[in-house]
Amino acid sequence: MGTFATVISCDERAAGIAFAEIGRIEKLLSKYDPDSEISRLNSAGYIQASPETYYIIKKSKDFSAASSGAFDITVAPLVELWGFKDRDFRLPAKGEIALALQRIGSDKIILNDAGRSVKFSTAGMSVDLGAIAKGYAVDCAVRKLKESGITSALVNIGGETYGLGTKAGRPWTVAIRSPDKKGFAGRLELIDRGVSTSGNYEQFFIKDGIRYAHIFDPGTGMPADSGITAVTVLANDCLIADSLSTAIFVLGKEKGSAFVKNIPGAEIAKIIMEKNVPDHK
Ligand code: AMP
Ligand code: MG
Repeated sequence: MGTFATVISCDERAAGIAFAEIGRIEKLLSKYDPDSEISRLNSAGYIQASPETYYIIKKSKDFSAASSGAFDITVAPLVELWGFKDRDFRLPAKGEIALALQRIGSDKIILNDAGRSVKFSTAGMSVDLGAIAKGYAVDCAVRKLKESGITSALVNIGGETYGLGTKAGRPWTVAIRSPDKKGFAGRLELIDRGVSTSGNYEQFFIKDGIRYAHIFDPGTGMPADSGITAVTVLANDCLIADSLSTAIFVLGKEKGSAFVKNIPGAEIAKIIMEKNVPDHK
């Protein structure tokens, strides 16, 4: 998935079990693996999906509707156009953005539950599960740990983290990194809970003093500019935390806070705001 994973547990079986499951999910969903189901969907515009791949695409489509389109896995053409796919960043022309927008919208993903078929209604579409796959993989790993009788572990994929049970009777404690990377912006305690942060300080480029980061507003085709620098979300599972933190980053503080209230067990733990002022780094 293009990131790191860590598993902490007193049970020495935990890492093996979790990494095996994460590897299995990665084989289905990774955009870096040309043979993954997602890569095959993106090149053919159609697949008959495994139950897991179908589940996450369906969840993503539903979540797109629930978030008024703020969350949308069909942003992949924008991710590519702005150069985030190959880290070859560029500022596209307005016309290029308008063309890309024609291929965006989860309503253009056609699902059929009976055959688990997934089809794009418009040529040139593609999906990017970067905002939800890590959280899902954490949940899958945690499920496998539980099935093996493991009751205590901290599973982390690229910052999407779940605290299973307690750490010797106390909550798992995780720190939120400051956007300036100099220290910590807070501490959280987790017992059977997931946490996710979305921000603009890990993947971005600066052009003419303006910061352009990797989370896009599917409505405008521009990097989201809601005033949020980083938002950390707690939820009952990591899939919800992951997709929700991305959606709130796009929606902004007010609409995002209202949206979270509709989702049982979820809450914003920390939100850091900053104007998109010229950056002199
Ligand atoms: P995250 O770090 O979980 O917030 O996910 C960000 C990643 O999700 C980006 O690197 C893109 O691959 C993808 N992405 C960007 N914008 C969106 C969006 N509005 N909805 C869903 N996925 C997105
Ligand atoms: Mg996310």
